[in-house]
Amino acid sequence: MDIQEYFIQSPLYRAIDFAKIEESWQFKHHILNTNAPLRTFCLVCSEVSVFLRFHSPYDNWTLHVNSPTRREDLESAINDFSHRLSEFGGDFIITDFACTVCAHPLIFISWLTDKYAMKIGQLPSYADVFQQADKKYKDALSTKGFKEFNTAIGLAAHGVGVGSFVYLRRILEDLEDEACLIAQKDPSWNKEVYQKSRFEERLALLKNELPAFLVENRGVYGIMSKGIHELTDEECLSHFDMLRTAIEMILNEKIVRLENETKRKSLSAQIGKVKGVLKNSE
Ligand SMILES: [Zn+2]
Repeated sequence: MDIQEYFIQSPLYRAIDFAKIEESWQFKHHILNTNAPLRTFCLVCSEVSVFLRFHSPYDNWTLHVNSPTRREDLESAINDFSHRLSEFGGDFIITDFACTVCAHPLIFISWLTDKYAMKIGQLPSYADVFQQADKKYKDALSTKGFKEFNTAIGLAAHGVGVGSFVYLRRILEDLEDEACLIAQKDPSWNKEVYQKSRFEERLALLKNELPAFLVENRGVYGIMSKGIHELTDEECLSHFDMLRTAIEMILNEKIVRLENETKRKSLSAQIGKVKGVLKNSE
């Protein structure tokens, strides 16, 4: 467990047992005084950004922070809160960060006892910062597909593992449908063989139209299907990050392919134009 995992990847109210982690004093120290950066989605930048610990007194902060009084507001709320909850023991800690691009704040409240640490509050919410897919993937997906990718991430952020797999699998199905439409235009396309094939076999048949990473790792579809039909939410969640990264790899490859296609067309047009000009000037 590092602080990226604690602050960004863990939902609220999950107790991190100090007995179960190595170097727990270091982990505790990080929650209080970390200087390590966090990497997560910024709601203002609308993309993944780096957040650094916010050290300056808010009064002297004259850039873009939305509310210069928020530290005082938070601290008095926390003091009040700590007082009411004193019977729980332990300490309530604020750890705050600011986006290095736009200075938007990211604030966490933790409850530390002798035995464990628990994140009990954060702004923006866990779902908001965890839920968003990088907007660059809009280029590789339909509007519906991009929304479904976000739904998958959002469901996983709320502990709904099986449901998140349903949406991840639909992304693969959409990519396959799209590739099939292109492949059908080829006169040598064998519709009969395709229709008799299972999904993973179809991915192999469409290898010229699909990102190579998907064709090489078409087993991801089987993992998603097994998750939907047989696994528990917890089991699905334990594989979610891997599958999300696999989908991102596939989409990255598709984006590069689309960019190359656009560049090729534009360059061909330019070459044609120059050739025309040179011919006319002969
Ligand atoms: Zn930002």
